[in-house]
Amino acid sequence: MSIDRKAILPGSTIGVLGSGQLGRMFAMAARRMGYRVHTFSPDEDTPTGQVADVEVTAPYDDLDAVRKFASSVSVVTFEFENVPGETAAAAACCAPVRPSGDVLHITQHRLREKTFLAKAGLPVTAFRRVMSVSELAEAARQIGLPAILKSAGFGYDGKGQARIYSPADFESAWQAVGETEAVLEAFVDFEREISVVAARSLDGQFTHYGAVENRHENGILDISIAPAGVPEQVVQNAVEIAREILEKLDVTGVLCVEFFLDKNGRLLVNELAPRPHNSGHFTFDANITSQFEQQLRTVCGLPLGSVVQLTPAAMANLLGDLWQDGEPDWAAATAVADVKLHLYGKSIARPGRKMGHLTALARTTEQALADVQRARRKLTADSCGTKTVPR
Ligand code: AMP
Repeated sequence: MSIDRKAILPGSTIGVLGSGQLGRMFAMAARRMGYRVHTFSPDEDTPTGQVADVEVTAPYDDLDAVRKFASSVSVVTFEFENVPGETAAAAACCAPVRPSGDVLHITQHRLREKTFLAKAGLPVTAFRRVMSVSELAEAARQIGLPAILKSAGFGYDGKGQARIYSPADFESAWQAVGETEAVLEAFVDFEREISVVAARSLDGQFTHYGAVENRHENGILDISIAPAGVPEQVVQNAVEIAREILEKLDVTGVLCVEFFLDKNGRLLVNELAPRPHNSGHFTFDANITSQFEQQLRTVCGLPLGSVVQLTPAAMANLLGDLWQDGEPDWAAATAVADVKLHLYGKSIARPGRKMGHLTALARTTEQALADVQRARRKLTADSCGTKTVPR
């Protein structure tokens, strides 16, 4: 297979905007292949910074610092889509930004994202833009209740969201999203949630990791099971929707499409993430090429790697709640064979904060799910084997 003439080769330096766990795992993949990694964010001693060659600490709106950062690398990518548009634009002065600032612009704002999807003829839940309580009442009249109000910008992991069951909830929901531009979305009584992590190379080649089943708790991903136990036709439909999205957005990089699968087998796109995704973490251990290496390959203009999954897998997130009675019992959890422990190097364990994850590899997804849940329970079981942390 030929390598793009403009490929950014091992030995080069990659710049990452953002410094969380996605950047950390990206940096691990990049360093393994002989690249250097610089990371930029307002924070210090970050999950990415601990692994990168250089950690730059500056606000995203310090555009001189952004330009200096971009001048020191061969390509800029991001691990956090809420990087301001001006930051991506400033970086683009000095290095290619992949995926482009346009992809970031659409996907960091729910309303722009949903409008893009609806205009492209892709299936989404009914939605309305809402700018006040009276507009909320009118939108609810049009799309019906129950519904979910979500802030248009800067939302993730269920933050900035409020469920609305009756008109009595309008005021509190409007306050919950910060009394700012929001989207009212019809509530989907879904059968399952699935996602497709996909990648597109600089020369337009497409690849994907199939459909993954996702289970959420309080709006935060809790468990992913790969492959998802859904009919092959559903997988094909989801992959075709993902392909269309990556092509229409002209993505160079990795993008995750999250879906609801309704009770009639119909897929609805919930949201897009223009980067590796929590539901693709299993690929680090289970696939020939992880989603992080794939991000590296795409942004560097290298050929795509094989996405073959070597064994069924299940991933369980480790949230800060697990620390509420002290340090989890790592030795007990790592005693479960075929379970891999990933910790992100975060020193403060707040409830709901993603601190790490476990991935179980097994002969069946059922076994992988049972193993990963057993390993996670062991983290907080006392010496009598009793769970001390409610989950
Ligand atoms: P989001 O941040 O939009 O991905 O929402 C987080 C989680 O909340 C989703 O994965 C779903 O479990 C739930 N959720 C969000 N929007 C809806 C909806 N319109 N209907 C039903 N559940 C939803």
